Amino acid sequence: MRLRLYNTYTRAYEEIQQPKDRKLGVYCCGPTVYGPAHVGNFRTYVIQDSVLRLLKLLSNDVCYVRNLTDVDDKTIRGARDAQKALSDYTQHWIEVFQKDCDRLNLLPPTVEPRATATIEAQQDLIKILIQKGHAYERGGSVYFKVSSFKDYGRLSHLDARKLETQSTNSAGRSNDADEYDRDQVADFVLWKAYKPEDGDIFWNSPWGKGRPGWHIECSAMSHEYLGKTVDLHTGGVDLCFPHHENEIAQSEAAYGGPFVRHWMHIAHLKVEGQKMSKSLGNLLTLDMLQDRQYTPSAVRYALLAGHYRQPLNFTFDLLKASQVALQKIHAFSQKLAQMCNVSLEQLKSLQTTIVLPKECRFLKAFFEALCEDLNTPKALGCLFLFIRKMPTVEVPMFPLLLKEWAACLYALGIDLNEALQEEEVHVPLPVRRMAEQRWQAKLARDFKAADDIRKILEESGWKILDSKDSYKVLPL
Ligand code: AMP
Ligand code: ZN
Repeated sequence: MRLRLYNTYTRAYEEIQQPKDRKLGVYCCGPTVYGPAHVGNFRTYVIQDSVLRLLKLLSNDVCYVRNLTDVDDKTIRGARDAQKALSDYTQHWIEVFQKDCDRLNLLPPTVEPRATATIEAQQDLIKILIQKGHAYERGGSVYFKVSSFKDYGRLSHLDARKLETQSTNSAGRSNDADEYDRDQVADFVLWKAYKPEDGDIFWNSPWGKGRPGWHIECSAMSHEYLGKTVDLHTGGVDLCFPHHENEIAQSEAAYGGPFVRHWMHIAHLKVEGQKMSKSLGNLLTLDMLQDRQYTPSAVRYALLAGHYRQPLNFTFDLLKASQVALQKIHAFSQKLAQMCNVSLEQLKSLQTTIVLPKECRFLKAFFEALCEDLNTPKALGCLFLFIRKMPTVEVPMFPLLLKEWAACLYALGIDLNEALQEEEVHVPLPVRRMAEQRWQAKLARDFKAADDIRKILEESGWKILDSKDSYKVLPL
């Protein structure tokens, strides 16, 4: 099986291929760290995480870079309002973001570079662009000369006329005084000259004091960690223009192409049918949802309920349904573990070394749906069909069945911790006490006492599964 994804650049479905001589380079535009990320942002990160998980299951060797935008207008404004140093201010929001990622069971990136740690690389890139005639300096700021790059607009399929109006809107010309000096309205800023409101936030450069523009940060960071060509570059659909268009222009003008082989864009999340925005008061964070008793795992599941290229309507009904679906998956995992005579813990630990079996026998349809443009709703449908109609399985096939089920949970990012907790909650305290007495007796090599307790437990409907250094109590 191979993963095929829709490529925004070519408008075609294309296979993601592992390069022979190096790691598969994946770059994701990360968060701007000036506040907590909202569920919309997390739709994008959860989808990116699902791609990473699938690539790993398919034996790809991936270098996954997700940056942190820790200097831009919003972070500078936030630090100033909070009367904090920029680095202290962003450090706090970085930690909040990373904690949220852990709660959603997102795999950590191979590298998570901060924009402020790569200023030199950004300046070097700007110098190359000036030297090659693609950029010019005006009043201490440096701009990219869009007319010098003939492929500009190819990703977002903009024609030159639209480009004028789009970039006027998106670049925020009216509220960024720096940009009045541009030769052409479509030109975008690479280096921003210092303004008094920047306070003590500036870096020295050949063009005077200032700071980088947002777009140059990603071009420099991806080049630093993945080289000239990125195999897969992803982000929310709003980044397609101008951010990704500008990344292509900067990188290809400086280093030659192609900058990216495959572009993947994730459609936006709406909340109860409305666009998410501060003014509508519907920006939902994980903390807000947890206050309403929705677990991060239910949020993750809900974010996978729709196909990533369609807008997803995030509702409380969807969250409730996700919680129920997860419980069914937990219950089935328990049933399967019991049937195959392993503990839930053992099933969980299978996920850490998982590679998708070459020949899937039980959950082939699930993985095929994921490989076909990451069709998560179809895959979930296949999963529940399997749960409802599980075939009779011969004992020699148990290891394969467990492996496929563990791979399936890994692909969805379901780690079974909650199932383990649920399992423990359901074992009554007196039973747990007796089980512990038995374990202690066994450790003390008092096997008769241990066997006697085991029998009593079995008579009351509980069995004990021992592993090397622990045990599990399960209903008979
Ligand atoms: P930002 O922190 O604003 O740079 O956004 C981080 C990521 O979240 C980017 O890839 C955005 O495209 C994405 N994003 C922002 N809003 C939404 C949304 N409502 N739904 C899905 N993705 C979003
Ligand atoms: Zn970016």
